[in-house]
Amino acid sequence: MINSIFIFLIGLCFGSFANVCIYRLPKSKQTLAGRSYCPKCKKKIKWFDNIPVLSYFLLNGKCRSCKKKISPQYLIVELIMGFGFLLIFLNYHNHLASILLSVLLLMYVIIFFIDLKHFIIPDTLNFGIMILALSKNFLSDLDLSFTQITMHSIIGGIIGYLSIWIIIYLYKTLKKMEGMGLGDAKLMAGIGLLFGWQSVPFVLFVSAILGLLMVLPSLVEKKKSLKSQIPFGPYIITAGIIYFFYGDILYQMVLGV
Ligand SMILES: [Zn+2]
Repeated sequence: MINSIFIFLIGLCFGSFANVCIYRLPKSKQTLAGRSYCPKCKKKIKWFDNIPVLSYFLLNGKCRSCKKKISPQYLIVELIMGFGFLLIFLNYHNHLASILLSVLLLMYVIIFFIDLKHFIIPDTLNFGIMILALSKNFLSDLDLSFTQITMHSIIGGIIGYLSIWIIIYLYKTLKKMEGMGLGDAKLMAGIGLLFGWQSVPFVLFVSAILGLLMVLPSLVEKKKSLKSQIPFGPYIITAGIIYFFYGDILYQMVLGV
């Protein structure tokens, strides 16, 4: 019990760190160190106002100096990381697997929210995932739904990248516009490296369906057209998580093997 609470608190702290990255990485602020400040009034945040989750409620979701609303995203990210770390800790008893999953969770959460807001995926994160995804093949048996066969991993990376690259190319030639970015291609390469080439068709298909479902209401209300830019990274990540949990079962159902 004590251990679980401790892991949850560590997760909250990493959630705070994730929030800093989500805010600073797209603005290419060199340093991730340094004191946090309110994005609205730029006043430095005192340490006692910077306690994950707790401060949000004590301050009633408002900045102490300018009283402007603090985005609930800060709270959401902290809670995702807290519960994420806890679930990983409770379900995986292989330490190496737990650490790998925790680092991946951190990077995917940061990418998810950056892409959602800014329509970009920083290369540092994409390359970080690729390196991690490739090096996990050389670790002892992780017992995760990742592939640990290096050849499956490398082919997955290449097919993942090419699949999005081809979509970008076709969009450019046929419709003369950019549907997705190379950031999405690199993100997909990371998924292929993690799960192997077998995962790429599934993740592509499910992310496209998810994207369509999310855009559909605003298409109907004509708030957006098919030409509007939509962030695709969050759907790739969501589809990747579904594959992580249910990939095997779904493939068996579809292929009947
Ligand atoms: Zn403020």
